[in-house]
Parts: sequence; structure tokens; C-alpha cells
Amino acid sequence: SISPNGTLDVDDYLRVKGHDNIYAVGDVTSVEEEKTPCTPNEHAKVVKANLIAECNNATLTAYKAVMEVVLVSVGSEAGVSQICGMQFGNFPTKMAKGKDRNSSSTWTDLGLQLPAITPEVCQGSKV
Ligand SMILES: Cc1cc2nc3c(=O)[nH]c(=O)nc-3n(C[C@H](O)[C@H](O)[C@H](O)COP(=O)(O)OP(=O)(O)OC[C@H]3O[C@@H](n4cnc5c(N)ncnc54)[C@H](O)[C@@H]3O)c2cc1C
Repeated sequence: SISPNGTLDVDDYLRVKGHDNIYAVGDVTSVEEEKTPCTPNEHAKVVKANLIAECNNATLTAYKAVMEVVLVSVGSEAGVSQICGMQFGNFPTKMAKGKDRNSSSTWTDLGLQLPAITPEVCQGSKV
């Protein structure tokens, strides 16, 4: 089930083609979309729903590609973004990513509390 570009060929439900009992998520999949850290999370939601559906003999959910978002931060204050074909500069990029590189939302997603960032934590490195 390896596609010509070397990714794992998946069907609409993110099952590896030819292996109905194996799902794949993330960059490794053949889904045609921007490869970003957001996509594995979106894939995982569909896979979770489909595993539950399989247990209940219910209908599987097809994955729909998420909107195209590319965020390139330069330090904590600057950067450029492209969202659905529109370009944005420093301030939106800083607010969306630069201020903490999305680490706070990752901690929240994991049900954890972001620790306070102090100079001692950084051991002298700039945040
Ligand atoms: C240099 C670089 C810079 C990037 N910068 C950006 C950016 O600025 N913005 C952005 O949106 N995206 C960026 N990306 C893309 C982003 O990092 C990926 O889209 C995202 O990490 C994909 O997540 P993933 O979970 O699918 O794969 P990964 O994050 O690659 O996770 C796969 C995991 O599987 C593990 N693994 C591999 N093989 C095995 C094995 N056989 N057994 C067990 N474990 C295994 C790996 O060690 C790894 O931990 C960048 C990617 C690269 C390479």
C-alpha cells in the first residue's frame, strides 16, 4: 500500500488500502493536503470515531482535508502566514504561533497545565 510518492496509501476513512483493520495518520499518509502538525490531530479524531463505529457496526466517517494553514514564525515577534490563499504578516503570525510556538495548545490538548516559563526553566536561553 505504498503510493508512488512513498506515502502510505489510505482510503477515505484513513484505512491503509488492502488492510481494513489498519489506520494511518499524519505525514505518512497519502492524503493530499498540507502536511502540518495540525493534520495528525484531525486525522486522529476521524480514526477514533471510526474505531468506535467499527465496534458498534456503525457507518464510518470519511476524512475531509482541513483548510490550508501555513505559519512561519521568525523569532517570537515576526513571521508570515498563509491561510486559504491569503497572506498575513507579523502580528497575526505572532498571535497564531510566534508567542509560544503553539506549545500552550499542545499542553491543553493533552489535559496538562503549561508550566510557568522562568529564566531558571530556560537556563538563560531567550524565549
Ligand atoms: C525540518 C522540518 C520543519 C518543519 N517546520 C514546520 C513548520 O514550521 N510549520 C509546520 O506547520 N510544519 C512544519 N513541519 C512539518 C511538521 O513537523 C509535520 O507535518 C508534523 O510533525 C507531522 O506529524 P506526524 O505526527 O505525522 O509525524 P512526525 O512528527 O514525524 O512523527 C512521527 C514519529 O514516528 C516516529 N517513528 C518513525 N518510525 C518509527 C518506527 N518504525 N517505530 C516507532 N516510531 C517511529 C518518529 O520518531 C516520530 O516521533 C516541519 C517538518 C520538518 C521536517
